[in-house]
Amino acid sequence: MSVKVRIPTPLRPIVGGDSEVAVEGATVSAVLDNIEARHAGFKARILDDQGQIRRFVNVFVNGEDIRYLNGIKTDLKDADTVSIVPAVAGGLERTYQEILFSLKKTQQEITPEAVKKRLDTGERTILVDVRESDEFRGGHLPEAIHIPRGFLEMRIEETVLDHGAPLVVYCAGGVRSLFAAETLTHMGYTNVASMSGGYGRWAQKGFPTQTPVVLSEKYRRRYSRHLSIPEVGEAGQIKLLKSKVLLIGAGGLGCPAAYYLAAAGVGTLGIVDFDVVDESNLQRQILHTTDRVGVSKIKSAMQTLEKFNPDITVIPFEERVTSGNIERIIKDFDIVVDGSDNFPTRYLINDACVKLKKPCVHGSVYRFEGQVTIFHPAGGGPCYRCLYKEPPPPEMAPSCADAGVLGVLPGIIGLLEAVETVKLILGIGVPLVGKVIAYDALAATFQEFRLRKDPTCEYCREGATFPGYIDYEYFCARPSAAS
Ligand SMILES: [Zn+2]
Repeated sequence: MSVKVRIPTPLRPIVGGDSEVAVEGATVSAVLDNIEARHAGFKARILDDQGQIRRFVNVFVNGEDIRYLNGIKTDLKDADTVSIVPAVAGGLERTYQEILFSLKKTQQEITPEAVKKRLDTGERTILVDVRESDEFRGGHLPEAIHIPRGFLEMRIEETVLDHGAPLVVYCAGGVRSLFAAETLTHMGYTNVASMSGGYGRWAQKGFPTQTPVVLSEKYRRRYSRHLSIPEVGEAGQIKLLKSKVLLIGAGGLGCPAAYYLAAAGVGTLGIVDFDVVDESNLQRQILHTTDRVGVSKIKSAMQTLEKFNPDITVIPFEERVTSGNIERIIKDFDIVVDGSDNFPTRYLINDACVKLKKPCVHGSVYRFEGQVTIFHPAGGGPCYRCLYKEPPPPEMAPSCADAGVLGVLPGIIGLLEAVETVKLILGIGVPLVGKVIAYDALAATFQEFRLRKDPTCEYCREGATFPGYIDYEYFCARPSAAS
């Protein structure tokens, strides 16, 4: 049984813009299910939780209202036409002027003065700007959410979950916002007003506006997949471009982390390494290439990253980190990504990060296992020393060179470090502070462990004065007191 279903304008974005779709189904209900299977979210606009037709929608089969047939169980024959008509349109063709006239009667309007008063008195108000992106970039009301009219149905529920939230919708002159307000009302938002006169009248009154910092067209194209995520968007991409991340080590962890951070548009990447590329590195250190064996890792990493994303700045530190140089190296960076491969360096990085209050994204790998966490005492978490007062004896903690590592594994752990870094920069999600994720490749499991801050930690406890750097080589080489 193939029938034609006429889709009203407000629902067209859900079905890809079509005004009519051909669907199989022996009843109206089956037809709605089949559309839903292809276009999730469709059915909820027609039926309520109880499966009843929503009160503002009428459904017709060949011109008969199904309420007077058999409801959604109404049988269909081949080539029947099912029309979905939002009640407001009444099923009648109306001119734009008539629709506008009726909207002015049915939708609540609010003057710019009243909106200004609400903002001044701190009355809860969510401003939704429904203009196109180029209009929004020219200036908008303070703190307004931007959802172009064409995306309103698709995006509003991602941004405003509470259907009773006080929404004020505006456009340039107050017309598009009336249509938008009507749509929101249909979607179940109960407290919606359209600002009369729109942004034009607001700006004319000299009320406060904001001009967003904007990305160039080139950046908009390159990072377009970030721009379409509400949690990142243009403001988030600007944060990424302005951020400065230091990677300690251009090895197994540093390579994948640096590669993806460069791809994400982290504007400044510092890299610390003093080694040269060895043939045995190529099994996992993906910034380097076969023809660069014997070349310094820093030069090799810069060559790859600058070709990959010429917009970012790579700052090289071709030196071994020591207590003498570490503060100079990390002081200008926002976040430190620890990709080092030995305990003296890890303790040194920890101590310097605690002292300079930098979050340290920590990753480590051993054969088939890896761990990731963020040490960030200034952000409420523990530091490396809270966990491990002292390093294990050398025979219990061999390096990759001695123990071996599955080539793909540091890719996963390095990328988890990169994800946590990006989250910290954007200020989104739950950062991996006070928790460690342990990945076991052979068992294919991720486990999460809670890490506690040691209230007696000499380095990060409340009110601690920095005890100073120590002789890390000696500290890590001495026989362990515990063994
Ligand atoms: Zn600590």
